[in-house]
Amino acid sequence: MLFADVANVFNRLEGTSSRLEMATILSASFRDLEPVALRTVVYLSQGKLHPDFYPNELGMADRSVLKSISSISGYPDDAVNSIWVETGDAGEVAERLMKKRKQMTFLDEPLTLERVIANLEKIEGESGKDSQSSKQKYFSQLLKDSTPVEARYLCRIVTGRMRVGAGSMTILDALAEAFGTKEDRPDIERAFNITCDLGLVAETLARGGVEAARRIMVSVGSPIKVMLAERLPSIPLILDRMGGRTAMEFKYDGIRVQAHIDGDSVKLYSRQLEDLTSNFPDIAAALRKQCKAEKAIIEGECVAVDPATGGMLPFQTVTHRRKKHGMDKAVEDYPVRIFMFDILFVDGTDMTVCPFGARRSRLEETFDLSETIQFTTMEAVSTSEEGEKFFNKALSMKCEGIMAKSLSPESVYRAGSRGFLWIKYKKDYEEALTDSFDLVVVGAFHGRGKRAGKYGALLMAVFDDETGKYCTVCKLGTGFDDAFLAGMPDMLDGYLSDGRPHMVEAQMEPDVWFLPTVVLEVVAAEISLSPTHTAAWGAVKNGAGLGLRFPRFTGRVRGDKGPEGCTTVNEVLDMYELQKRDEQ
Ligand code: AMP
Repeated sequence: MLFADVANVFNRLEGTSSRLEMATILSASFRDLEPVALRTVVYLSQGKLHPDFYPNELGMADRSVLKSISSISGYPDDAVNSIWVETGDAGEVAERLMKKRKQMTFLDEPLTLERVIANLEKIEGESGKDSQSSKQKYFSQLLKDSTPVEARYLCRIVTGRMRVGAGSMTILDALAEAFGTKEDRPDIERAFNITCDLGLVAETLARGGVEAARRIMVSVGSPIKVMLAERLPSIPLILDRMGGRTAMEFKYDGIRVQAHIDGDSVKLYSRQLEDLTSNFPDIAAALRKQCKAEKAIIEGECVAVDPATGGMLPFQTVTHRRKKHGMDKAVEDYPVRIFMFDILFVDGTDMTVCPFGARRSRLEETFDLSETIQFTTMEAVSTSEEGEKFFNKALSMKCEGIMAKSLSPESVYRAGSRGFLWIKYKKDYEEALTDSFDLVVVGAFHGRGKRAGKYGALLMAVFDDETGKYCTVCKLGTGFDDAFLAGMPDMLDGYLSDGRPHMVEAQMEPDVWFLPTVVLEVVAAEISLSPTHTAAWGAVKNGAGLGLRFPRFTGRVRGDKGPEGCTTVNEVLDMYELQKRDEQ
């Protein structure tokens, strides 16, 4: 198969901002592909060669890609750099310069998909200090034989920023269109949610249709998309929603970890599917030792503890364990415990389909506890007084608040979804008109006065999980200290976008746009109708969306959350309704 055909599909995707049209373009091309090629094309469309949780990545630095473009196109570094500064997109640089390429090759060997994959595999296989030069060598071999459009997408694939706008939800739409019907979409999505592997789902569909996709099972080694909680602003409302009785657990302020235990091997994944095993070797070892089953998948929160008192320390302390280097010292300096709260698989049994009560009992049967390995503190609650007492106990133990969990027979583990089977209630919510939001940065405004030469304010958005779009909710300029302001370009400029990204819906025009990537925690005084912000546009009032008043950055960058894990439009809408009710 020719790589040109794949690049043409990407090019057509980039020409539209309609999710429907993207799904149609993709489904037509998916039907024509062999199962194995389909699997690869699905990964490539996301700027990857393997699923997110695969340990190696293509990981080419922009600098190395730009060097290859210079040497293959025959243009000097400054010509390359000037387009790079203008566009921030290596793909654009390559396409423009390859069109007027000075050095032609006479080999004229068209790139096949197989050849592209073979070299990408070599690039992915190189890691460590001197890997960029070998990666560059393999990349240049591809660039040399590529057309301008192929070059555009090769550059974007190796840097992991495809910018074609086809997110995983669009790919699932396309797979349903290609191999099933609209009615099959939830089953196909479930297969993805329990494996986090779009390529595997695609290949399975191409081989055996929807029936085969339905047979995909939870399995140790394939991370499961995490279940998420809704929020409510008071304990009586939570009890009401839970039908008068609920389980309550402490809500620990740490890092969520999904542990896959397989005999002697243990792997730990973050909610963003990063491999955290080397960050928590002590937790991995203790889980292996204390687990009575041969195979299990569990979830828990890793929390830093004070070595002298055993008391829990705030989130900032455990983040020392997210470093890439110097882990041995961090393990010694920052002792951690895991508080386990769920079990998703044990010795051949898929526990995600069992109600919460059954899962909790099975979790308790499966582990012997130790100082490092504990269960979350849990209590069944049926009155507001009991609930308030439990909440205060959680705060006195330095927890963030509580998690209420439904005890109904329907309380299965809903992988990848946010719903009212779990409801969070945090300390913030108690303070009148204060609520916290995890918002994604989509743009920035240049600073003035004291902030001249830096970004002065950010345009922030929430995620619409029905349309896959990001909608703005506020302009954020408060809560930044000097160090944060100085570090903003480093944190954000890798995601600069030429103009508004397809998946962002905005009326405001910031000075620069970003691909939605970085998530910040923000508190606000109130949610109000807004003529400029696009969140929940028209849902409350025609010609208005919802915006946050007096937003302030809390100082917490949510590196553990991806853009799709940020606060959703529906959550903002629910909070707005509750706020109105409280005001009445
Ligand atoms: P938030 O990050 O505010 O959306 O809250 C959800 C997060 O709380 C989960 O992803 C976990 O990391 C964390 N958490 C802490 N304690 C618990 C618990 N007992 N049950 C479930 N999640 C918990």
